[in-house]
Amino acid sequence: MSPLTQALAAADPALMSELEALYKDLHQHPELSMQEVRTARIVADAMDKLGYEVTREVGVTGVVCVLKNGAGPTVMLRADMDGLPMAENTGLPYASTVKARDTDGTEVGVAHSCGHDMHVTWLLGAACILAANRAAWQGTLLIVFQPGEETAEGAAAMVKDWDEKGQGRFPKPDIILGQHVMVGAAGTVSYRPGVTLSAGDSLKITLFGRGSHGSQPQTSIDPVIMAAATTLRLQTIVSREIAPTEPAVLTIGSLQAGTKENIIPDDATIKLNMRTFSEDTREYMLKSIRRICCAECDASGAERPPEFTTINSYPLTENDLVATQKVAKAFHQQFGDKSLLAGSPASASEDFSIFGRSWGVPYVFWFVGGTSPEVYAKAVQDKTVNKIPSNHSPQFAPKIHPTLETGLQAMLSAAGAWLCPGA
Ligand code: ZN
Ligand code: ZN
Repeated sequence: MSPLTQALAAADPALMSELEALYKDLHQHPELSMQEVRTARIVADAMDKLGYEVTREVGVTGVVCVLKNGAGPTVMLRADMDGLPMAENTGLPYASTVKARDTDGTEVGVAHSCGHDMHVTWLLGAACILAANRAAWQGTLLIVFQPGEETAEGAAAMVKDWDEKGQGRFPKPDIILGQHVMVGAAGTVSYRPGVTLSAGDSLKITLFGRGSHGSQPQTSIDPVIMAAATTLRLQTIVSREIAPTEPAVLTIGSLQAGTKENIIPDDATIKLNMRTFSEDTREYMLKSIRRICCAECDASGAERPPEFTTINSYPLTENDLVATQKVAKAFHQQFGDKSLLAGSPASASEDFSIFGRSWGVPYVFWFVGGTSPEVYAKAVQDKTVNKIPSNHSPQFAPKIHPTLETGLQAMLSAAGAWLCPGA
């Protein structure tokens, strides 16, 4: 065990109940991406009290906290804070009933259906233990609460603010660590060297036709036909152009045109999302999407080429190999056979790696199981793991114990691999 997880085990039991209360409070008060004002205030006030140098409003609502504790590496620990624009349907006594206005003014339910409330609680708990046990470690801590992960805005906004206001405003980290709760037996952690999460790209594509009366199609250039043909042809990128051994996803989640059955509309919009696991495949698919959309518009005789807008873009999360080995060693010491090596990367995306990529700093991102171990074991036996409500499901909510304890232990043991070198 790391001296830091020993300190956690020896901590006042009141800490765990305080963290559980904090978690439930955050869960009941989720905030949309880049609007995490309340959450940021709660963490910044708490970090202030713990003795960290706290800087608020870094990249809109981000919070950066520094604690210098002698010579040693600078370790950055990061948690994301935002909820999702969806109604919660867990039936839990502490379920969210919050409603808020989305960026386009629509009223939406808001829920912590990705578990970022757990991430904030883990990080604040780890920060407590680190601040209270300074004799157990040496170095500099950089604790970062990030806004807007769900819209891929937050990490980029923080890095921009950080860099624009001058290098040296905060110490440059030697290693960046982050974790995510996901489906898996609570009490376990899983990690993977190299690519651990897919890149994610979302595009809006507008196809321009020429509207007309539905009874006179000969006077139109029909964008509905154009969009339908494009939708089908885009599916051939993964099925016909990418090798079967190379995983890739292309999903068209929105296809819209027209208002009435007898009006041929002027245009149609396609919104798509793709996931890739290598930079080469990502670039190839982005080019193919453009080629197919332009060719289908040409085939329809469109007078104007299609327009492409990036909705969001998440880079690959590619864990540093040497740093992952260090984390893996710490996890094996801490968790024994509950520390799992993931067999394949996950088809989900994160903006966590933007910090490391922007500064050329190695990073490691891992996962903490949040499903009741009994439920998970039965699902594995019944081959129904895919039916367990996952992140972004209205039924998603981690089992608080032991997920809370495991995430704390994981963060502290991983940080200890850098901060407690003699251990
Ligand atoms: Zn999410
Ligand atoms: Zn998430």
